[in-house]
Parts: sequence; structure tokens; C-alpha cells
Amino acid sequence: MNKMTDIDQKKCHPMVGVPIEKLRPKQVRKNLELTLWESLYIFEIIRGMYITTRHFVLNMIGFVFKPKGQKRRIFTVYYPEEKVTIPAAYRGRPVLVTWKNGKEKCVACGLCEKICPANAIMIVAEERDGSDRYPSAYTLDMSRCVYCGYCEEVCPKEAIVMSAEYQGLAERDRSKMIYSKEQLLRSEESVKDRIEYIRRIYSKCSY
Ligand code: SF4
Ligand code: SF4
Repeated sequence: MNKMTDIDQKKCHPMVGVPIEKLRPKQVRKNLELTLWESLYIFEIIRGMYITTRHFVLNMIGFVFKPKGQKRRIFTVYYPEEKVTIPAAYRGRPVLVTWKNGKEKCVACGLCEKICPANAIMIVAEERDGSDRYPSAYTLDMSRCVYCGYCEEVCPKEAIVMSAEYQGLAERDRSKMIYSKEQLLRSEESVKDRIEYIRRIYSKCSY
């Protein structure tokens, strides 16, 4: 387990991993009294439309006339040409983690299968060389998965983690959303941010 310094622990919220400074709630003025101008609504709607249109036009200009060699100052992400950086707290497709030699870390204990509230996981356990348990089959039905992260939380081997993968999760044909072990295997290196993150948040929970 990674040990965080006190300063690191104070900086981020233990559950969501976002700097606490950013989590301060915005003040909602519930007893706001509207002026006559505002209570007519139509002018406020026009003002809202003006703000929306201004952002749209500025973004379009920023897209068409991108300054060469400079960082763009427009914040819209032009997906899919551009991709956002996914924070470690994001829960995307659950994947199976491998050791450096490419073998799965999973020992087929069945805890994830048992805890999954959507019954999305199915494991067939076998023994390798008469001792090591491993899943000869690990099936994940992503059409059932609700991205709760319980499988990751319960796993004693850090063998299944919620990855940052968000593309290709939706299909018209549900049968294409059933993944085999081979389709789910990912190197430890590719999910190291998430592994570090879960070490941080789960070590803070007192079970
Ligand atoms: S994220 Fe939740 S619903 Fe999805 S496989 Fe894991 S335990 Fe099941
Ligand atoms: S909890 Fe972890 S080790 Fe156990 S079967 Fe699931 S992925 Fe494998």
C-alpha cells in the first residue's frame, strides 16, 4: 500500500479524490427578490440567449482561427478529435489487471461475482499447476453493469479496477456487450493511476 503524506491527504477529498477547495458549495440565494425588470422574464431570457450565442460564436471563431503555436483560450473540447483527461476518480469500464508477465492477477475468489448487485460477473475457477487458482473464464456483462465499483472495492488482489475507458460502452446489440476475460485484460501500467487512487481512498475507509 502507498503511504500518503498528511499534506496529500488533506488536499483531496477521501472519496472523490478532488481537491477539497473545489468542493465548496456555491451559495444559492433562495430569498432573492426580483426587480420589476427581472420579473418580466422576457428580458432575462433574451440576456440568457445572448450569453449562449456569444459563447457559441467565440468557440466557433476559436476553432476556425486556432492561434498557431499558442495555447487555445477557448475551453470547449472538440470531441472526438480532442479528448479530455479523465480524472482517476472516474469509474469507466471495469477491467482485469495483469502482472508484468501478462498473467491475470485474479485468483478467482468469487468475491466480485458475489457482491455485484447487477449479477454482471460470471467466473469459472480452476487450478494451475495444482495450486494457483485462476479464472479459466471471466465474463462481464456490460449491459447489466451499473458502474458501482463494488467489484473493485471488494477485490483483495487489486485484480479488477474501474478503468478510464468510456468509449464503446454502448451498443445496439446487447450480446456485443458481454466481454470475455481476454477482452478485459489490461496491463498494470495502463491503470496505475486508478490503482494508486483506490489505495488512497479505500485505506481511508474504516470497515
Ligand atoms: S461495477 Fe458494480 S455492477 Fe459493474 S461489474 Fe462491478 S460490481 Fe457489478
Ligand atoms: S474479487 Fe478480485 S480476485 Fe476475486 S474473483 Fe473478483 S477479480 Fe478475481
